[in-house]
Order: sequence, then structure tokens, then C-alpha cells
Amino acid sequence: MSTITNHMPTAELQAIDAAHHMHPFSTNEDLAKEGVRVITRAKGVYLTDSEGEEILDAMAGLWCVNIGYGRDELAEVAARQMRELPYYNTFFKTTHVPALALANKLAELAPGDLNHVFFAGGGSEANDTNIRMVRTYWAEKGKPEKNVIISRHNAYHGSTVGSASLGGMAGMHAQGGIPIPNIHHINQPNWWAEGGDMTPEEFGLARARELEEAILELGEDRVAAFIAEPVQGAGGVIVAPDTYWPEIQRICDKYEILLIADEVICGFGRTGNWFGSQTVGIRPHIMTIAKGLSSGYAPIGGSIVCDEVAGVIGNCEFNHGYTYSGHPVAAAVALENLRILEEEKVIDHVRNVAAPYLKEKWEALVDHPLVGEARIVGMMGSIALTPEKETRAKFASEPGTIGLITRERCFANNLVMRHVGDRMIISPPLIITRDEIDEMFVRIRKSLDEAHAEILRQGLMRAAA
Ligand SMILES: *Cc1c(COP(=O)(O)O)cnc(C)c1O
Repeated sequence: MSTITNHMPTAELQAIDAAHHMHPFSTNEDLAKEGVRVITRAKGVYLTDSEGEEILDAMAGLWCVNIGYGRDELAEVAARQMRELPYYNTFFKTTHVPALALANKLAELAPGDLNHVFFAGGGSEANDTNIRMVRTYWAEKGKPEKNVIISRHNAYHGSTVGSASLGGMAGMHAQGGIPIPNIHHINQPNWWAEGGDMTPEEFGLARARELEEAILELGEDRVAAFIAEPVQGAGGVIVAPDTYWPEIQRICDKYEILLIADEVICGFGRTGNWFGSQTVGIRPHIMTIAKGLSSGYAPIGGSIVCDEVAGVIGNCEFNHGYTYSGHPVAAAVALENLRILEEEKVIDHVRNVAAPYLKEKWEALVDHPLVGEARIVGMMGSIALTPEKETRAKFASEPGTIGLITRERCFANNLVMRHVGDRMIISPPLIITRDEIDEMFVRIRKSLDEAHAEILRQGLMRAAA
């Protein structure tokens, strides 16, 4: 068999991909016709494709490449670990240094008494762990009926059956027989789209109080936990109004509900602190981690668990685990990533340099005729596209049409900026420099202008009735 390499013509690689590779969250038939872009290399904030084009990756891969691409240190650590101990499990009275050292480091970094780590292969698996862990916790406390987990519509918690059930993505719930039983969804704090005539402050309180209403309706003795992302990522970088999180914390405290913060995107510097929980001021019992934990250089995730929950779980045999829980190569890579984040003061760079500069330029986008609101926390931002700013109108076209047109213009201009419906989102590598931010905005503005022209040309700049 001949070897397939980067040096083959793009069309050939595309044809092989179309014939055999099933892409996640894609319509593979359409993709096959269009031809996928083949990414061959990456360095810093730039990707290179098989045609030699340099693409500015304003999404850090899938929100994960926090330290940027091309760090040799991680490659070296991985190679060393593979030679020394490529694999061993931690199921049967054994452990290894990468897993225990990473757990130790995470306990040091995590706030409060979040001192214990259960490892997984990624965020979805970690959230599946969380479902079983919080239910087991209450069962061990003699309350097996306290097993309902409350989550939010338009949340993203992963793609496995359990984690997608926690998530509130309508398109996912329509396929494959989810949700599993005893998951309950409340509404999201998306003021722009759903706030109506309320002020953001009123709306934030109202949406938080839906948690209390759900608890009272279901019964306090039925609700095990509430799970949420500090800032919704895949839902469109939805930043809750300031009134939301304090009220959520009050409600969780009052009714003895475990709070799970899904930090898969927000963790490891994305919001300007080590964890998004610190940015929004909450005290979770469990944090889900993945993505930025290894900056995407190796697949690893996990749950950081507080003393109380870990203590109860530690008193029973928790019949749960993954072959690759705490995989030594992935754990060693994650540790090296955390060393770089710490020693190179990447989070200080975010707080003092990158985030303030990005915020200034991002918020100025509201002067563009397509842009209604611009929200940003640390290094994750969103803009809502609208045909009519004053009324926060939606477009008359099928939701996502305008977002897709805009995303296509970005991609054509060698900029990765994603769309979620008719919101555009960014989440660049944390190490991005001011000059690179400048270059990013040249491409953003050009793409928005081209999208606007195209939308006018197609007669789509119309508000929904
Ligand atoms: C990506 C993501 C997940 C799922 O993580 P995987 O590593 O893809 O399984 C879970 N929660 C949030 C908030 C995410 O953004």
C-alpha cells in the first residue's frame, strides 16, 4: 500500500477523505462535493493548508489550543513518556507518575476544596462520569431518588449519550434517542435573543429563578445537581447578565443541589482566570475539564471533585472508568502544558495585554451595519448579526443563513471564525499578540463587509415578522 502524505495533490486527499472519512457535525455528502480544506501544519496562531495558504485560527482549533500551535516541548515530553511508559491503567491497585502528578497539580490550581481528580479521555466522557458520580453520591447518602440533573437549553456538554442529554442542543436531541431519563432543562440567559422588554439585569434574575422554580416543581428531594458552563461556548458565547450567577449560587446553596461547572472551554485561562468559575464568582462542587487542559495536544479530560463528594464516592466502589483514564502520555503532555501556562505567565498576558486589547476592538464592531451586540469575556467573544439593531430583530431567512454566509467569507479570507446560528464567535489562542489581533481584525472587518454586501445583494437584510 502506498503511503498517503501531505505532499499529495489536494484534490487526491479530498477524494480519499470523501470516500472514507465521516466528519463530525457535518453533512458529508455536501462536504464531499465542496471539497474539504486539508490542514497540514500549524505554528502559533496560524494554520497552513495543503495549498500553502496561512489561515489565522481565531477559534484555537475547537477552543482548545490555548498555548498556540507548534510547541516542541510538548512533543518531546510525549516522546519521552511513550518510551518510558506508553500505557498503563490505574484500575487495579496501580498508579503512575503522570496521572498522580497531574492530579496533584490540578488540585493546587483549582479553587476551594476541589482536591480530587477523576480522569477521562475528553469533556464528554468527563460529563458522563459526573452524571454517574452525582447520582451515586446521593444514593450513598441514602437518597437514591435525588437523581434529576438540571441543565439548560442551548448548553453544550458533549456528544456521548449522557453528555448530549445534559446538553440542550435541539438538533442533537432530535437524533439517536436522547435524552436519557431524569435530565431537566431550563432556559438560557441569552438576553439578546430572548430578553424581550426586560433589562438585562431583570432578565438575568428571571432566568436564574427558573432553576428555583424547577427545583420546587420537581421537589428538592429529587434534584441531584445543576450543570452549566460559566460562559456558554458552543451555544454562541452567551454571556449571562451580571445578576444571573449570584442568584444561581444562592439557589444551589439553599436547596442543597450540587453545582457542576463545565469548564471545558472556560478553564485554563480562557476567561482571564484559571477557571471560569472564578470569573463569574461561583463555588462548584465539581468542575468538568478538557480542551485547554492539554491545549489540544493530547486527548484528555476529567472531573475535579470537592472533598465532600470525593469522600462519599471514595467510600464505595465506584464502578466506572475508562481504559484511557489518566493516560500517561496525555497526562504528561497536559502537565507540560500547565507548566508553560504558569511559567510563561500566559494568564497574565491574557489579563493585561490580549483580553483588554481584544475587548476594545471587539466591542467596536457594533459600529458595523450587520452587528447588533458584541459580548466578550477574556478571550471568548460573540457578535449577534441583525438586520435591525434597535429592535434586536432576527433575520427573516432560516436561522443560520446569514451566519453561514459570513463564515464562508471569513474562511475565504483565511480566518477561522465560527457561526452559531446568526452569531459569530471567536476564541483565539491565549498567546495571540497585539499585532496578530490587528491582523485578525483586518480579516474580520473585510469579511463582515463582504458578507454585508452579499446579504444586501441577495435581498436578505430583512427582519423576521
Ligand atoms: C467541547 C465541550 C465538551 C465536550 O468535550 P469533548 O472533549 O469534545 O468530549 C463538553 N463541554 C463543553 C463546555 C465543551 O465545550
